[in-house]
Amino acid sequence: MALRVCEYCGKAWIGGDEDMAVPLCPGCEEELEGIYKLAWNYLRDAATESGRHRKVSAQELASVLEVDVKAIETLVKLGKIQTEASLGERTPEEKKRNLDKLSRIRKGIKKGLK
Ligand SMILES: [Zn+2]
Repeated sequence: MALRVCEYCGKAWIGGDEDMAVPLCPGCEEELEGIYKLAWNYLRDAATESGRHRKVSAQELASVLEVDVKAIETLVKLGKIQTEASLGERTPEEKKRNLDKLSRIRKGIKKGLK
C-alpha cells in the first residue's frame, strides 16, 4: 500500500499497485475501462466498415466518443490503444453514422456499469 496520485483526476489515494506504470484511482480506472470499451468498439466497427485497420487521433477519438481527450491520452499511456494524427478521408455521413452507433453502444455500457 502506498500513497498514489491518480494520473487522470489528480487525486491522491492510498492503495494501488506499486508497479502501476500509470497510477489510476479505482473510480477513474472504472471510468477509463468504460471509455476503453467504447473506443475499442468504435475502432473495431470502423475497421469492419472500411475493411482495414483504422487509426485515429486522440483528439478525434475523444470528440467521437464525447469524452475528455485526457481520457484517450491516458489510455494511450496505458498502452491500451494507439492513435495516429491522420484521418481526413471520413465523410460527414460516415461520422454521423458512427455517432449514432456510438450513442447506442454508450447507453449499453453505462447500464452495464451501474
Ligand atoms: Zn482518479
